[in-house]
Amino acid sequence: MIDYLTHLLEARAEQTWPAELADGTRVTTHGEGLIAFEPANASYDLFLSCGIHGNETAPIELLAKLVQELLDGHSHTKARVLFAFGNPEAIRRNERYLDDDLNRLFGKAEAQTGNGPAAQRARELERVCSAFFAPSAVRWKLHYDLHTAIRGSKIEKFAIYPFVADMPFDSGEIARLGAAGVEAVLLQSKPSPTFSWYTRHHCGAHAFTLELGKARPFGQNQAVNLDLVEAELRRLISGERRDYSAAPHPTLFSVSREVIKRTDGFALHLADEVENFTELALGYVLADDGDERFVVEEQGARIVFPNPKVKNGLRAGIVVVPTTL
Ligand SMILES: [Zn+2]
Repeated sequence: MIDYLTHLLEARAEQTWPAELADGTRVTTHGEGLIAFEPANASYDLFLSCGIHGNETAPIELLAKLVQELLDGHSHTKARVLFAFGNPEAIRRNERYLDDDLNRLFGKAEAQTGNGPAAQRARELERVCSAFFAPSAVRWKLHYDLHTAIRGSKIEKFAIYPFVADMPFDSGEIARLGAAGVEAVLLQSKPSPTFSWYTRHHCGAHAFTLELGKARPFGQNQAVNLDLVEAELRRLISGERRDYSAAPHPTLFSVSREVIKRTDGFALHLADEVENFTELALGYVLADDGDERFVVEEQGARIVFPNPKVKNGLRAGIVVVPTTL
């Protein structure tokens, strides 16, 4: 039997795995790169996604390995688990995305996204995860959307906690991220059209975007150490939901200000290779835009996702500061 990742990479149409495993777990394919495992008497729902950006291969290799072990009967799940390999065609081409960035298209109306391949895939992913989470309104639900980043980072592994009005940030889940090797969590202050925001807002899941190191091609991920996140995922799949509420938190950051590029004259005063979470000195002139200057006024400020090449009107970087819950 060919393995699941080969099946995906070769775009095979025929399903080569059984619809039921030896231990009675139901296996359902919900579309390309979408496979669910449902044992009897599961007590919670786990949704693990990767490959929303096709060139972020380390998490794809990790989740493909976990899928394969379940299919081969080498591990068993006690949770309902849905795996999503987000953007199969981009994965096959080793591209971040094709016609549009999938992780900017969730929860948006067709009038805003158009109806290209990326928008259609976003709608499919929304449909499948909503249906997966729907039967269990009161149960515990967790979604980790696994990524690796374009640029290096002073903090190698960090998570983004999506903002949903009237839903407080969960201390125990922040601590779980720490146990999974995440060193910092960025608490967002407004909604964003990402996959994890969608599942938190629309499905009531605890949901996070995880950035787990630097993006590299398949087979070249030796420098990306996913041992701790893998260990926590294995525990969760096996039905062991640890209570981390007394465990230490990763460092918490909140968004202080966004750097908005307004005109073609915009200049960001950072080297191209500057890493995420690089510290910014008080009084530093971070950007110029016509007669506007962006001066760092925050103690402990750091830059995240700097990108001066965005279109006018969009965010060219985020200034974050340390925070507490
Ligand atoms: Zn990504």
